[in-house]
Amino acid sequence: RKQAIQKVFELIEKEGAQMVDIRFVDFLGQQQHFSIPANQFEPDHFDEGVGFDGSSIRGWKSIHESDMLVIPDPTTAFIDPFFQHKTVVLIGEIHEPGTLEPFPRCPRGIARRAEQFLKQQGIADVAYFGPEAEFFVFDHASFDEGPNHAFYKIDSDEGAWNRGRHDSLGYKPTTKGGYFPVPPTDSLQNLRAEMVLHMEAIGIPVECQHHEVASGGQCEIDFRFQPLLKCADTLMNYKYIVKNTAWKYGKTVTFMPKPIFGDNGSGMHTHISLWKDEQPLFFGDKYAGLSQEALWFIGGILHHAPAVIAFTNPTSNSFRRLVPGFEAPVNLVYSARNRSAAIRIPVYSNSPKAKRIEARFPDPSCNPYLAFSALLLAGLDGIRNQIDPGQPIDKDIYHLSPEEQAALPQAPKSLEEALEALEKDHEFLLQGGVFTEDVIEAWIQYKYDNEVQQLRMRPHPYEFSLYFDV
Ligand code: GLN
Ligand code: MG
Ligand code: MG
Ligand code: MG
Repeated sequence: RKQAIQKVFELIEKEGAQMVDIRFVDFLGQQQHFSIPANQFEPDHFDEGVGFDGSSIRGWKSIHESDMLVIPDPTTAFIDPFFQHKTVVLIGEIHEPGTLEPFPRCPRGIARRAEQFLKQQGIADVAYFGPEAEFFVFDHASFDEGPNHAFYKIDSDEGAWNRGRHDSLGYKPTTKGGYFPVPPTDSLQNLRAEMVLHMEAIGIPVECQHHEVASGGQCEIDFRFQPLLKCADTLMNYKYIVKNTAWKYGKTVTFMPKPIFGDNGSGMHTHISLWKDEQPLFFGDKYAGLSQEALWFIGGILHHAPAVIAFTNPTSNSFRRLVPGFEAPVNLVYSARNRSAAIRIPVYSNSPKAKRIEARFPDPSCNPYLAFSALLLAGLDGIRNQIDPGQPIDKDIYHLSPEEQAALPQAPKSLEEALEALEKDHEFLLQGGVFTEDVIEAWIQYKYDNEVQQLRMRPHPYEFSLYFDV
C-alpha cells in the first residue's frame, strides 16, 4: 500500500496534475465526486480519509450523521480523460468519522467483504467477473419537467430513420436487423472507437466493441474479466467514459434497460468463474464441460435468483426488458448456447481457462458492487449446500408451448415482486457480514418508497391511449 501511495504522488508529479478528484459510488450505483487541489493533497488522506457532507446522498442519510469520510484506494489512480485541467482520479470507500469503521452501506465496502468472504470459505481465492453492459446512444433525450414526468422524447439518427422521418430510404437499421451491418448502416463506429481509446488510456483491457441488435443506436463494448471489486470499479469508469465521450458530441447515452418499446433492451450479461491456486474451478466433465462446483454454483444462483434480481435488475424499467422475444431471459433455467435462459454456458472454446457461466438476467441499471456481490453469495451458497440446478433446457424457451413455459420457474415480473423475494430470502447475503440486515432493509425501503410507490401514483403514458376516451 505504501508503494501504491508513493506511485500516486509520482503520477501527480509526472503529469503535472492540478487536481485530485475523489470518487465514490452511492447506494444506487451513481458515482459522486469532489476535487482537492493537487498541492493540498497529502499522504495522510489515504489513512485518515477526506471528509464530506453525506446528508444529501440518496439512501444513506436517514439514520446516520451527515459527516462522512471517504478513504481513497491508491491502486485506483488514473488521469481523467475529459477534464480541462490535469486531474488524477481516485476511487474510495466510505468510513465513519472518528472511529474510521467501514460504513456498512458503502457498496464498495460490501464488494470488498464479498471477496474476503470468498477467501475465508476456502472454496476459491478469486472470483472473476466479466460484464457486457449494453447502452443506447440518443441524439436528444428530453423529459417533461412537470410533476407527472409522464412524457418523454428520445431521438437518434437511427431512431428517426426507423420512424420514417429520414429522407433517405437507404441504410436503415431495421428492428432486429441493426446488428452488425457495416457503415453507413452502423453510424456509431467512430464514437465507439473513441470510447475504446479512452478506456485503453486508463488501463481498461477492452476486447471488442460493436453495434447491438436494437435499432435506436444500441451499442456494446466488452472488456476482459477482472476480480469482483476491480471489475465493479472498471464498470463505473466504463460508464463514465461512455457517457462523457458521447456528451462531447452532443449525444446522450442511457443505460436504462428498456428505453424503446418493441425492440431489444439493454442487458448486462455477466460472466463469472472461480479460481483457486491459479486453477479454474468451473472446468470439469459434467454438462457442457462444467465441474460439479460450477453446477452447484448455478444451482445457488437459480435458487436465489428472485432475491438476487432485486440487486441485478433493481429498477421498475428492468422488468420491461425481462419479457419474451427480445433475447432477455424470463425463466430461471440454464443451458449451453440457449440465449433465452437465465444462465448460459458459453461454448465458444473448450479451454479450461475459458470455462465460465454467463448470467443473462442482470442489466446495466444495477449497482455493480451490490449486483456482483449478490451473484457471488448466491453461487457460493449453492456450492456450500450442494444445490442441484436441475436439468438444462436446451430448447428455445420462447417457442415452448404455454404449458411447458408455465412449468419452468419464472423470474419476478416487477420490482415489487423482486423486493418481496429479497425480503423473504436474504440469509445467504448476510453470510460473512457481507450485506447487513440494515443494508437489506434500507435497500427495500428506498426502492419501495421512491420507485414502486411513486410509479404507482402516476398516470402511465399508455393509459392515455387506453383510457382517455372512456
Ligand atoms: N440486448 C439483449 C438483452 O437484453 C442481449 C442481446 C445480446 O447480447 N445477444 O439481454
Ligand atoms: Mg456480447
Ligand atoms: Mg450484447
Ligand atoms: Mg453475452
